[in-house]
Amino acid sequence: MPDSIITYLFHIINLLCEIILDLSTQLDNSLAHSKSPDLTPPDHLDYQRLTVDDLPIIKSMDKKDYRLLLQAYEALHGKPCKPIKRHGSKTQVDEHITCPCCQAPSIYLYINNGGKGQYSCKICQERFNQKSRFSKEIALECPHCQGNLDLIKHREGFVIYKCRHQACPYYQDRLKKMTPEEKERFKQFPYEFKMHYIFRDFALNLSDLEDSPNIPTVVQLSNIHCSPRALGLILTYCVNYGLSAEKTAALMFDVHELKISGQTIRNYRRSVGALVQPFTTNFPYQLSDQFCGDETYIRVQGKWHYVFFFFDAVNKIILSNRVSPQRNAQTAIRAIWDVLKRFDKIPEKLELIVDGNPIYKLAQAFFAQHDKPLDIIQVIGLTNDDPVSTEYRPLKQIIERLNRTFKGNYKPLGGFGSQSGSIAHVELFAAYFNFLRPHSALDKNSVPVQLPELQQCNNMPQKWIRLLNLAEDYLMAQQPIGF
Ligand SMILES: [Zn+2]
Ligand SMILES: [Zn+2]
Repeated sequence: MPDSIITYLFHIINLLCEIILDLSTQLDNSLAHSKSPDLTPPDHLDYQRLTVDDLPIIKSMDKKDYRLLLQAYEALHGKPCKPIKRHGSKTQVDEHITCPCCQAPSIYLYINNGGKGQYSCKICQERFNQKSRFSKEIALECPHCQGNLDLIKHREGFVIYKCRHQACPYYQDRLKKMTPEEKERFKQFPYEFKMHYIFRDFALNLSDLEDSPNIPTVVQLSNIHCSPRALGLILTYCVNYGLSAEKTAALMFDVHELKISGQTIRNYRRSVGALVQPFTTNFPYQLSDQFCGDETYIRVQGKWHYVFFFFDAVNKIILSNRVSPQRNAQTAIRAIWDVLKRFDKIPEKLELIVDGNPIYKLAQAFFAQHDKPLDIIQVIGLTNDDPVSTEYRPLKQIIERLNRTFKGNYKPLGGFGSQSGSIAHVELFAAYFNFLRPHSALDKNSVPVQLPELQQCNNMPQKWIRLLNLAEDYLMAQQPIGF
């Protein structure tokens, strides 16, 4: 009978799925004990080379006017310059794009370079890239010699400009300060020395930083076959106690006589992570003016990914928990913005204490360019060699403790099979840390953010469910009226 065959095959498929999951968890567990990445900044990185120079002098270029150019064209050729005829969707240019040189609208713009963001203007012939259109709108000059800056390198996320003028006081001053040994070495290895004025222009705008990581979900919490009480238990085991989905499933069966698969628990975790994320991210926290940032790592599909935490050092509140495959300046910028965006006006004394990683210097340069000067204090190395490290080490230790808490919570999980699973876990951890977990450094061992709604709950599963209700209410309140 075909029906029974289908049922039988379903059974086999389910069985195989369980076996595959079991094996992948075992594999992840064994990988989790593999050598973790070295998070100390490499010794060979020369901090001098990464010093952040003053901002360049920015001059607006003389702009052309496409309307005048069109008139001139018609006078010369005896007929108007026509908009571009397009064939096929690949040649369409977005309506909001205009030429940075003459302001011509999109109907006069060609797509260059196979749709990689390059355009050319039919009216003024200028080529431009939407991401670096800035460079066509302005001219950059060296603040030391007023000479033009040259674009010398495209790096991931930013471009580098350099003042090449030999007479530049910046260059001359560097030359003078060199010891004879350094001069000798400079002849052989000039690339080891930063001698010229440098400016980095990031392909990021403040508006680009507003995005929150996306967590695709597979189940809708309103439709799941699981009582709120059971969901509260599952979250308590998974998040508070850091148990893997498989162990939680076993516990739910052995102790609570509820049959549920590890995969179902993983699906729930993702949906709950997506639900609490907007609530945790946009909560109106009471903040101090001391923040620490640090990176730790988790394993995703067998590879190490980085978690960037930023944390209110006084009130013990996690403000940023960005997960990224790279330990780069862009993620550092996003993590710092997660802190800054909470202030209408950035407090004058705001201090960000981070490790010695040069990416924070790049982030500082980025915010200086966007009129948000920051005091970034880097605590370098493990010993208190310099006065800065001595003064701020206690703060750095606070975030290192947060990292240890996170790792202790994450370690039994082994690793994640997907990027969204890892992001969901970090979101859940942040919600737990801010709203549910008593902190020994706070008065009366209290929770960092005390929600009155949660104080009436008798136990942790109840608290989780109440927190989910609040997150749901928050989402509903965000929706436009009438929907
Ligand atoms: Zn143009
Ligand atoms: Zn110069």
